[in-house]
Amino acid sequence: MTDQPTATRLSINGIVQGVGFRPFLYQLARQHGLNGEVANTASGVGVVLEGPALSIERFVDDLSVKKPPLAVIVEVTRTPAPLHGFITFSIVKSRADATRATLISPDVMVCDDCLAEMRDPADRRFGYPFINCTNCGPRYTIIDDIPYDRPKTSMRHFTMCAACQAEYDDPANRRFHAQPNACPVCGPRVSLCDAKGRGLAVDDPIAEAIRRIRQGHIVAVKGLGGFHLAVDATNAEAVTRLRRRKHREEKPFALMCHDLDAVRAIARVAPEEDHLLLSIQRPIVLLRKRAETAIATGVAPGNPWFGIMLPYAPLHHLLMDAGFVALVMTSANLRDEPIAIDNVEAFARLGDIADDFLVHDRDIILRSDDSIVRHSAGQRRPIRRSRGYVPVPVFLKHAVPSVLACGAELKNTICLTRGRQAFVSQHIGDLENRAAEEFFRLTIDHLKRILDITPEFVACDLHPDYLSTRYARTLRDIPVVAVQHHHAHIAACMAENQIDAPVIGLAFDGTGLGPDGSIWGGEILVADYAGYTRAAYLQPVPMPGGAAAIRDPWRMALAHLRSAFGDVPDLADLPVVRFADAGQAQVILQMMERGVNSPFTSSLGRLFDAVAALVGLRGRVAFEGQAAMELEAIADDHETGRYAVTWDAHADDPLVIPTAPMIQAVVDDLRAKRSPAVISARFHHTLIALFDELCRHLGARTGIRQVALSGGVFQNCRMLEGLSLALQKSGFEVLTHRLVPANDGGLSLGQAVVAAAQIATRISG
Ligand code: ZN
Ligand code: ZN
Ligand code: FE
Repeated sequence: MTDQPTATRLSINGIVQGVGFRPFLYQLARQHGLNGEVANTASGVGVVLEGPALSIERFVDDLSVKKPPLAVIVEVTRTPAPLHGFITFSIVKSRADATRATLISPDVMVCDDCLAEMRDPADRRFGYPFINCTNCGPRYTIIDDIPYDRPKTSMRHFTMCAACQAEYDDPANRRFHAQPNACPVCGPRVSLCDAKGRGLAVDDPIAEAIRRIRQGHIVAVKGLGGFHLAVDATNAEAVTRLRRRKHREEKPFALMCHDLDAVRAIARVAPEEDHLLLSIQRPIVLLRKRAETAIATGVAPGNPWFGIMLPYAPLHHLLMDAGFVALVMTSANLRDEPIAIDNVEAFARLGDIADDFLVHDRDIILRSDDSIVRHSAGQRRPIRRSRGYVPVPVFLKHAVPSVLACGAELKNTICLTRGRQAFVSQHIGDLENRAAEEFFRLTIDHLKRILDITPEFVACDLHPDYLSTRYARTLRDIPVVAVQHHHAHIAACMAENQIDAPVIGLAFDGTGLGPDGSIWGGEILVADYAGYTRAAYLQPVPMPGGAAAIRDPWRMALAHLRSAFGDVPDLADLPVVRFADAGQAQVILQMMERGVNSPFTSSLGRLFDAVAALVGLRGRVAFEGQAAMELEAIADDHETGRYAVTWDAHADDPLVIPTAPMIQAVVDDLRAKRSPAVISARFHHTLIALFDELCRHLGARTGIRQVALSGGVFQNCRMLEGLSLALQKSGFEVLTHRLVPANDGGLSLGQAVVAAAQIATRISG
């Protein structure tokens, strides 16, 4: 290499707009003594560099190492350029269409630089709850349309003062082109209102809100992606009042703590969990409760876990600086309704719950709940993927046509694809009421607009009655592809792992319609994107009462007892008797006998429910998965035993996996007075051994060495860790979810890639 100047053009794709990328390149070019120019382009950022070849190499090396915290570089392409003779490095104006296809950053936590300014009494933004810069602040939730510029965001109503404008225009400034840039003079403000939404004349709304929370008030706090209901978590009476007013009997409330030490005081935190708590997305992290804490028991009754997050918006820091042990910060929704965002709407919907409202005058364009993650089997596992992660796409191995996938019924998300990118929406929730359906439609329209995607195809579930399926069927001009639920689960897992060869897929969850009209949920599929075969499934049993059997796990216990013994044995000496008397049991038995409202299911989730009820843990659940979670939580860590597993290797295709031996063994253990903790451990070990054996059997038959694990059951750490380990020992590569939830929140991704593959097969075939 010589010192002769050379010229290179770089195209950088990814999340490189609105995150301080051009000022970063400007400063990097200066450091390396390079001239040239940078501009936003349709797919990212385009740079021309002139200078010594070695300096250009160093510049490129530094790109990925020193990039701004919010930037995500997907691809850098280099092409030679003609020497132009630049005498400086400059940021040039972008073309009009420059930002159509670029990626928008998620909303992320306030950065350390901004926090330091906010806490500096000499700074002009001292104590200002809307401080932000190109490295931090709101994005996704304030964008109305593209290109991402201030007039297309909810900041359009605020005109920057001279000081803010000067920062915005200065390429060397941290706030260069920071669209939400604001200060106390020109930006949004907080105010405190009473339960009726009437403004209260107070000097310092935040200080007054803190005072009221201390007194036990429930304060609705408008944050980044919606409202929270804030309550002092150590105030048992206030927590109980919140629970009563929210009609939320057992679901745990999320907590916010000031810092890591405060978290450690109430929960056990492993080093990997530190990372999750501190990550810029600031999700709610599920952590094991400590035994004796100052937290009111009503926060997470009967639950071994706390969901805890650290402050992420500047306003949260100002609240938490008041010294609370922890605040309950639960989504301000009525049961099963999406999180509230609009001030007027919030007053109307939350007036009966909140005593006071701490609001502000910056609109939230698109609501986004807090994300929930947990550390399990050596990885971050999303349980709810929302604020902080959305709209970062999942990158696919191959480009696909533009598909809109409408997701499932529960824990709904939607997915839009563009080339190699799959955009999974924020958590929309259970599509069981009008408000949720509206939010679903709003999110689809919003994402189509800000991503500039016009779907050519629409994908939905096989279930004709899901609201999401009905919506898909109303889109008259677009071909619809219906995708089987468990196929979509496995495809989602393959897609995020960029796998395209066929896999053995274990799809274990509560409910999903099979093409035979029965309810599936304990499925071993041999699948690729275009299709699947059902290789094995759990012996189906009736669900007496249909949906009632999901609510009442004791009904599933009776169904499995009947399936295992041919009749329901005398319950008198079994713990399940405490949930149903002889009369009730008789009614359920007759329902099954006559086949009245008793659809058959192969669901593993329901088998978990049955065992939880059998050992006497729980006869009725307040939310799906509650009984299974409790069964997992009580398992004895020292127990190593398991029950015998049997299945017929020579049986016809597909293979029906008997559950009777397991249920009989559980009953034997109960009669031998073994503890629920021991039985739970043995039950888990049995399932792990069983599925490991079945995979070895199928692996030998098909030659497939990759196993994909998906479905809500894999939120169970014991199952995920145990089965991953066993399968690895058996020589399989195990594919699991790290980017989208294993539960139905990840389903839209799978629907999209299955639809894309089926369309491709149809076209070529
Ligand atoms: Zn910042
Ligand atoms: Zn200003
Ligand atoms: Fe599912």
